Amino acid sequence: MADAPLLEVEDLHVDFRVRRGLFGAASYTVHAVAGVSFRIERGETLGIVGESGSGKSTLGRALLRLVDATRGSIRLGGQEVGELRGRMLDFRRDLQVIFQDPQASLNPSMVVADIVGEPLTIHFGLRGRERDARVADLLERVGLATYHLERYPSEFSGGQRQRIAVARALALEPRLIVCDEPVSALDVSTQSQAINLLEELQESFGIAYLFIAHDLAVVRHISHRVGVMYLGRIVELGPVDRVHDRPAHPYTQMLLAAAPVTDVATQRQRKAIRRRLPATELPSPIDPPTGCPFHTRCAHAMDICRREMPETSSIDGGGWVACHLQSVGPRLAGAPLDRMVADRSA
Ligand code: SF4
Repeated sequence: MADAPLLEVEDLHVDFRVRRGLFGAASYTVHAVAGVSFRIERGETLGIVGESGSGKSTLGRALLRLVDATRGSIRLGGQEVGELRGRMLDFRRDLQVIFQDPQASLNPSMVVADIVGEPLTIHFGLRGRERDARVADLLERVGLATYHLERYPSEFSGGQRQRIAVARALALEPRLIVCDEPVSALDVSTQSQAINLLEELQESFGIAYLFIAHDLAVVRHISHRVGVMYLGRIVELGPVDRVHDRPAHPYTQMLLAAAPVTDVATQRQRKAIRRRLPATELPSPIDPPTGCPFHTRCAHAMDICRREMPETSSIDGGGWVACHLQSVGPRLAGAPLDRMVADRSA
């Protein structure tokens, strides 16, 4: 299994039962993740983007086994994680997580030395001076100093708290870290410092990341490839520059059109795209639309889109897209944003 991908996810589904109505009389199924497949190689970063409610965080939690998958397969280094029953400590060591809100994910009553040191004791049996030395080394790696060791999380800024969370994740020498919106709560300059840190650590240790975010621009800086999620499915996946510069799926185009940019010409292009987009909300994952799940919001929706789920098609420049435009009307698919505006204005 040495040449197996680091992580291989196949047809993953996560459903939740929710109760509603008087005394919870009615129950519904929320299809939070609805058939997701992808791979991550060693030392690679796969970005996952989508609106809130797209299922991207549930996907991350299913990989970490914080929620149960309804069906599908998750293999880490070729080993099915559902079959690791006696080796869950190894699994926890290989797969770590950094959450969006370090304030909530760090125990407020523990000092940094214990927050970072506790996993070293549990997993490696390190104690005393040996543990202290390892913690000090980890803090240095993430740009903190030894005088921070005896401080509590409340004594740090948001960016520093996220560094503590990174040090704790690194302590176990993981092969993969699920980063769930790790920079969303930080200001812009602290965001870029945190992303630079993650990139440096990847270079030093060969760690892979699944980097979940709602902002394609943030993902672009750190990812090698990116998958775009909509209503529990990945609708486009490919090299990050291709997806950013030549988005093939109308939903990816919509996400990009909504992203803030500083360049005036690009602002005008994106405003023109936004004006042509139907102003509808994300449909409910309890009762997703038939056919292509994006058809209720898509400016290019055709009859076939309302009836049939699109298959995936390869895209020039790498990756794939799930959209009927590829087979029925490929004129707009894979178009750069400026051509989309021109075509839609015609
Ligand atoms: Fe739009 Fe149809 Fe493509 Fe779905 S399949 S994104 S509705 S064009």
